[in-house]
Amino acid sequence: LLPSNLYELSREEKNHLLQKLETQYKSIQEEKLHLDITRGKPSPEQLDLSLPMLSILDEKHYQSENHTDCRNYGVLDGLPEMKKLFGEILDIPHENIFVGGNSSLNLMYDVLVQAMLYGLPGGTKPWKDEKISFLCPVPGYDRHFAILEHLGIEMIPIRLNEDGPNMESVLSLVERNPSIKGIFCVPKYSNPTGITYSDEVVKAFCTMKPAAPDFRVFWDNAYAIHDIESPGERLLNVFAEAQQHHCTDRFYIFTSTSKISFAGGGVACIATGEKNLKALKKHYSIQTIGYDKLNQLRHVLFFKDRKTIENHMKKHAEILKPKKDIVVNTLQKYFSNLGVVQWTNPRGGYFVCLETLPGCASKVVTLAHEAGVKLTPAGSTHPYNKDPKDTTIRIAFSYPSTKDIQKAMEVVSLCIALASLQTMLGQK
Ligand code: PMP
Repeated sequence: LLPSNLYELSREEKNHLLQKLETQYKSIQEEKLHLDITRGKPSPEQLDLSLPMLSILDEKHYQSENHTDCRNYGVLDGLPEMKKLFGEILDIPHENIFVGGNSSLNLMYDVLVQAMLYGLPGGTKPWKDEKISFLCPVPGYDRHFAILEHLGIEMIPIRLNEDGPNMESVLSLVERNPSIKGIFCVPKYSNPTGITYSDEVVKAFCTMKPAAPDFRVFWDNAYAIHDIESPGERLLNVFAEAQQHHCTDRFYIFTSTSKISFAGGGVACIATGEKNLKALKKHYSIQTIGYDKLNQLRHVLFFKDRKTIENHMKKHAEILKPKKDIVVNTLQKYFSNLGVVQWTNPRGGYFVCLETLPGCASKVVTLAHEAGVKLTPAGSTHPYNKDPKDTTIRIAFSYPSTKDIQKAMEVVSLCIALASLQTMLGQK
């Protein structure tokens, strides 16, 4: 698409190249494609892996290990065997786990609403009665930002490096400013850059001295066991570290089986310290009589233990790896050493993240959209949808077929080439 001597081309030569690419673009538009690489959804083949779970319960199998009738009300914080399973996934004592409904995002929202309306253990008043803010590592997950914005919590962007958030900024803000009440983290295979926090970063979260007594880390470990490459990356156990520093109540650790079993039909949990657990149970006992224990039972009967889940996750990886490789290899084929775009090659998770030339990301997304390829809106990886340099694009490769991903990446590559060239020529 672009020659290796791109930067040496004269203006006229660049214009000529632009015209050539525009012709290619028009012919792609005529294909009237309908491709979508916006959201990190599991593909139908991935969902098929968990199909046997749907027939694991029947007229005889609806009781838990301790003979709870899972068809009926009760057991607010989850079946013991479900807590044990999450305990094994996260390597956290089952006593510290609260099992919720089908969505970890829902649990994050609940905890924030509880904090806003009633305050959290350690605090002196409800968060709604103060002007408060949260730190948001960027690029980050748009739905975290949406919750904060929805609740009127101010967001302060923090640069996300290869090893986690820039801890110098985090510490200087958190330790000096009592109005900063929390931070959202996706510590493993982060959405969207795919990085995993280093041991030093994890430890720094446990040794920090927040100015706010009710400061919380929302540790969204959505991709805890979601390796694509072998070996996967290792995340230091933040809960074990926090136990050593007597600050387990600083953390709400979330995960779910959304990308293990069924997205939207899985089970989610929160792991945290005793004081938080007690407060959580108090609030949830008003909010619900109990969650879906039949779904919990299905999950424990199907997944059994960590080993069985790990084998299951290998099957996910076999489906995901060729798709991720197509994304990375296509970018490599067209743009290696050109400097117009950089991309990540994560060892797990659901996303490849691109960094374009400044001012180019939204152009690429618009061009792709007009050629029938939907990308996550530019800016959505940043609080208030404002990517100040307009450089970040998130590619979600899991859902489409390999054929569709290949086609989509050809289109996206053409759009990157076009947008980069337009930018270099100073065109809007
Ligand atoms: N957190 C992160 C970082 C995610 O990427 C996702 C799914 N895209 C979620 C949470 C949503 O999880 P759940 O289905 O458990 O609400």
